[in-house]
Amino acid sequence: MIKGIGVSGGIGIGTAVVIKQQAASYEEHAADPAAEKNRFHQALEQFCEQTEKLAEEMAQSAGEKEGEILRGHILMVKDPFMQSQIEEQIDAGSSAEAAVDFACTLFIQMFESSGDELTIQRAADVRDIRQRLFELLTNSGSSALSALPMGTVLVAEDLTPSMTAQMDKAAIAGIVTQNGGRTSHSAILARALRIPAVLQVENAAGRIQNGDKIALDGSSGEVWINPNSEQLAELEEKKKSYEALTAELRTLVGKPTQTADGKQAELCANMGTPSDLPAVLENDCEGIGLFRTEFLFMDRDKAPTLEEQFEVYKKVVTALEGKPVIIRTLDVGGDKDIPYLGMKQEENPFLGFRAVRYCLKNQALFHDQLKALVMAAAFGDLRIMVPLVTTVTEVREVKAMIASIQAECQEEGISFGKTIPLGVMIETPAACMIADLLAKETDFFSIGTNDLTQYVMAADRGNQEAAYLYSTYDPAVLRSIERIISSAHTSKIPVGMCGEAAADPLLTPLLLAYGLDEFSVSAPSVLPTRRTIARWNMPEAGQVAEHVRSLSTAEEIQTYLESVQK
Ligand code: PEP
Ligand code: MG
Repeated sequence: MIKGIGVSGGIGIGTAVVIKQQAASYEEHAADPAAEKNRFHQALEQFCEQTEKLAEEMAQSAGEKEGEILRGHILMVKDPFMQSQIEEQIDAGSSAEAAVDFACTLFIQMFESSGDELTIQRAADVRDIRQRLFELLTNSGSSALSALPMGTVLVAEDLTPSMTAQMDKAAIAGIVTQNGGRTSHSAILARALRIPAVLQVENAAGRIQNGDKIALDGSSGEVWINPNSEQLAELEEKKKSYEALTAELRTLVGKPTQTADGKQAELCANMGTPSDLPAVLENDCEGIGLFRTEFLFMDRDKAPTLEEQFEVYKKVVTALEGKPVIIRTLDVGGDKDIPYLGMKQEENPFLGFRAVRYCLKNQALFHDQLKALVMAAAFGDLRIMVPLVTTVTEVREVKAMIASIQAECQEEGISFGKTIPLGVMIETPAACMIADLLAKETDFFSIGTNDLTQYVMAADRGNQEAAYLYSTYDPAVLRSIERIISSAHTSKIPVGMCGEAAADPLLTPLLLAYGLDEFSVSAPSVLPTRRTIARWNMPEAGQVAEHVRSLSTAEEIQTYLESVQK
């Protein structure tokens, strides 16, 4: 078994067809620039025509947005800078191929050095464009992709969007590539077409031969070359249950989230970067319950500007088309270090200068984030959420900053959100104990069980030695959750949960019985959570909660919840 990263779930079993891209060979120089330009423009015209056709086919088979990925190639190739680079090279004596190679390489290098994962992945799109322009200029197009035998596992160095568009989708059992990442267009397209795919398998096209029997697990990233009959039987079984499960989950798309006896709950998704948007939308979430903005600040050497942040928040709010989007302000510190913020080494980082504590002491940085949020709130149902709150004073300070930023926007004549709901994460014992007081000052709560569990149990969430204590099933944590929900409801504000516990099917009956209003889970857990909620009715959930109240340890509670699990 070899390993890559699973980017499109499901088990694929089939026969390998290995696609090896030939390095293009061409004459460097050409004597007649006018003739070369003519060749280039003819190739360009054909490129645009073919790509438009592929985009239409892709829109039919996968969806409008996926078609747009290919239309993006037309825009890229027609980019005036790209065009002028190519023409200048031809004028200086290059052949059309050499000029295309030069300009595309320039773009590839530019994208690859951006340091931004999404932009880096766009380099693969330019490679795709370069390859296809070469094929058109040299009349060497590969038609192998449209005539693949049924049950093909496609193995390639890189699967480009145009290759994906050309292939006969019904024939493809799976995809294995050497390159590409989770956010590459090949990954996005594989997911949209529901083809199991594993990317980043080292030397895949060298290790796998044409005709090899291949099995792959698009969730775990495992690939078996010529598996034995025992492995194969096991994988066939897994494939069947995966397909039955996905078919069942697909029937829940577009359905309300409600218990068997009709009690509705809101089911939202958690996200970290705009690249999560496709998965979030595909899984039919009813809103975003947690956008962890710290990811926008990571893997770079300075904080994103107000404008950059505004663009991202606006993009997310716009994409959600009026559904609620809860954006959490910077939750830095603890286990999330952002080197350029110059945070000091601390003895107890989880108890230290983190999240809202840091933001309130770094007003310029916080001001920019809040202003970007206030401005983006003009474009949809944006709600602001503050992490790691421990006192009412913190909430009042954030509220005062938001009010002053709104006044600033008014003065500057910038459009902004006039009534932006403000919520707090309840993830510290202090917030739990003063939930009634916090509820009077805020519009909603969201329970962050990942942190709440560690703080209530005094067990660092990353410490293996203390892991036996870190359990959301512990009565101490469950009582905290019940108390938080009841305090929120006394003050008539809604309460959600965005920690991992919201997606735990064992806890679903308890959360329903406690009256949780909103479940916010990772994109792949949205439909499974809708399914679990649908299997319970309120009287049964109430009985489970009542019994759990009589139990004394995490182990007893977990065993009991497993025994009644649906
Ligand atoms: C939590 O603590 O439950 C939470 C959702 O926040 P994070 O995991 O980002 O700390
Ligand atoms: Mg947290």
